[in-house]
Amino acid sequence: MNRKQERKRTESGREEKTLQGKDAGRKQEILRTDTLVIGAGASGLAAGISASRRSGVIIADGNDRTGKKLYATGNGRCNFTNAGCSEENYNGGGDGFVSCVLKQFSVQDTLEFFEECGMMSRREEGGRYYPYSGQASSVVRALTREAQRRGCRLFLGDRAVSTEKIGESDTFSVLFESGRRILCRNLIIACGGRAGLKTGSTGDGYGFARTFGHTLVPPRPALTAVESEAGFPPGLKGVRSKGCVCLYRDGRETAREQGEIQFTETGISGICVFDLTRHMEGLQPPGGSGKKRKDTAREEAEHRYEIVCDFVPEKTEEELYLLIRRRMERGYDMQSILEGIVNDRLAAVILEQSGCRAVDAAALLKAMWIPVSHTKGWNEAQVTCGGIRREEIDPRTMQSRLADGLYFCGEVVDVDGRCGGFNLQWAWSSGTVAGRLSGKQCGRMKKFG
Ligand SMILES: Cc1cc2nc3c(=O)[nH]c(=O)nc-3n(C[C@H](O)[C@H](O)[C@H](O)COP(=O)(O)OP(=O)(O)OC[C@H]3O[C@@H](n4cnc5c(N)ncnc54)[C@H](O)[C@@H]3O)c2cc1C
Repeated sequence: MNRKQERKRTESGREEKTLQGKDAGRKQEILRTDTLVIGAGASGLAAGISASRRSGVIIADGNDRTGKKLYATGNGRCNFTNAGCSEENYNGGGDGFVSCVLKQFSVQDTLEFFEECGMMSRREEGGRYYPYSGQASSVVRALTREAQRRGCRLFLGDRAVSTEKIGESDTFSVLFESGRRILCRNLIIACGGRAGLKTGSTGDGYGFARTFGHTLVPPRPALTAVESEAGFPPGLKGVRSKGCVCLYRDGRETAREQGEIQFTETGISGICVFDLTRHMEGLQPPGGSGKKRKDTAREEAEHRYEIVCDFVPEKTEEELYLLIRRRMERGYDMQSILEGIVNDRLAAVILEQSGCRAVDAAALLKAMWIPVSHTKGWNEAQVTCGGIRREEIDPRTMQSRLADGLYFCGEVVDVDGRCGGFNLQWAWSSGTVAGRLSGKQCGRMKKFG
């Protein structure tokens, strides 16, 4: 059968192809567009909106609704940016990659963009911005409405399964689960990483990138709680204590954070702990060295991590020792010796572990060592550390350095930020930058499709 017989245009202008081989007789829909964005999450919607200024855009997502992850962000309130956004809040700070992108679409640009889309915002502690309504759905609705207003076509409920460039041409071909194929000049991969797995980001973007020769910094889950299997004190679940947490890698201090430490059944959580997990590359699996956990970085060296909790950062160990001694001399009963300093349940654990010796109790208040067995996995993680190597992407455009017309944005790239709105700011900035050039190129080219 020749090509003419295989392909025909439908009345609506769509093209159909009659499949051969095992799918013989089945019709395959073929669509054309200037720009195809795979992923209708934060960065994909931003990219689609940006590209739509100059080109025809399709935004496709495997989920049957846009922005599924966004609904879960900021505990349902969506902390969508942070006034203090700068390169230091991201990994690899100092190479200029992130700041080059943030400069092109800043926090101020983000606030103005959402305002224009009809979403008021509210600034809270730590420079964190939320929608004024306190509802993450306001962010999703504003973005989706804007994308539709600008003529982006949304194809939902259909996962992209493969991407390729057609021969030596400048056309990409993307095949979807339904059998639909979309041909495009510009392909924007906005598939996210693997964090929050249930929201649809399953790491497909990495496979698509590999097709074009890209390589990965091994992805691992971060911004999540840590588990401690070795003798973690029981009975602390639910206890919260303000303090300082310090991460030790192979016995050396690596990072330090301040905030609320939250105890779980077998570990610790809280934003300050989440932020430490970004530094835990090559975490040894439970039980020490040996077989690596599935999904952990295979190329990385293994490290041993411990978190040291300081429950009273404002006082020295010496001051605490004197305070406890004074209480003992005044005849305080055992339960009251640490009263008002830490939560009663935490006090009980400290007293038990210190054998009620003032010197040891003071030491434990300043430094409770918690060995880290592992972090929580992809379902609980808020961000992916690792991803497509930055060196393979031009930060001025977010275009691949390996394939013209191919762009990346959002979490699929090896960029991750602290808690506080930094990851979404990266999604908006990188998405907008990726969309800008892809749109521009189509504007200059003869209209495609
Ligand atoms: C629980 C939780 C809370 C968070 N809270 C905050 C917060 O308050 N502030 C903050 O800054 N960050 C927060 N984050 C992080 C932030 O949400 C992400 O960094 C951001 O959403 C990443 O955007 P993205 O567009 O790269 O990926 P995603 O938002 O994950 O979107 C990727 C999209 O691609 C689609 N997709 C993937 N593969 C395919 C395929 N093969 N075919 C078609 N579609 C595909 C997915 O279905 C998904 O919709 C949170 C994350 C989680 C999980």
